Amino acid sequence: MARAFIGFGGNLGDTRQIITDAIVCLALRNELHIVNKSCYYQSAPVDALGNDYINAVVEIQTELHPYGLLYVCQAIEQQFGRERPYENAPRTLDLDILIYDGCSQNDMELTLPHPRITERSFVLLPLLEICPELFLPEFGILKAFLPQVAHQRIDKLPCRNCTCDAKISNNPTTNPNSRPSTH
Ligand code: ADP
Ligand code: MG
Repeated sequence: MARAFIGFGGNLGDTRQIITDAIVCLALRNELHIVNKSCYYQSAPVDALGNDYINAVVEIQTELHPYGLLYVCQAIEQQFGRERPYENAPRTLDLDILIYDGCSQNDMELTLPHPRITERSFVLLPLLEICPELFLPEFGILKAFLPQVAHQRIDKLPCRNCTCDAKISNNPTTNPNSRPSTH
């Protein structure tokens, strides 16, 4: 079984509900199971126009190979009406494989680890929430990149069914909340 992290995002429609439903769709797949799930975050678009994004990260264990997992992610995007009219267009749902075990590759279809992990607060904060000490050979200890994304606006949304703090900012001096949540 491989350990992988998937980033969820979107800014068209009721994204929080869409991500919740998409995670259920993912959980229904026989080839994987969900180990951990971050809280939801609201972030400003980066290099894009449109509404704020809602983001979350999920950790899974899977029997799928990386491309198999990519096709599952793309099928779920399609299920929720993903369209690609132009680069960085607003989207109902985006699923990106952030990390797949120790896999390191770069081709047209799949780059691993995802190249923008360390450049986006909307990836780093939910990822570090569920795995605060995450280390990747390509980047080193991921929390070291928090100061570099501190200017990117992001807020953790209040959780419905968990007891974590209602809000943490991307202030690098704030420890990302490491408790798993249930939403
Ligand atoms: P983006 O997520 O960059 O805004 P898309 O979701 O439209 O854009 O993805 C564009 C392409 O990125 C996809 O066709 C996919 O093959 C490729 N891709 C490369 N690496 C990854 C990855 N780690 N996770 C998901 N898609 C990836
Ligand atoms: Mg994508």
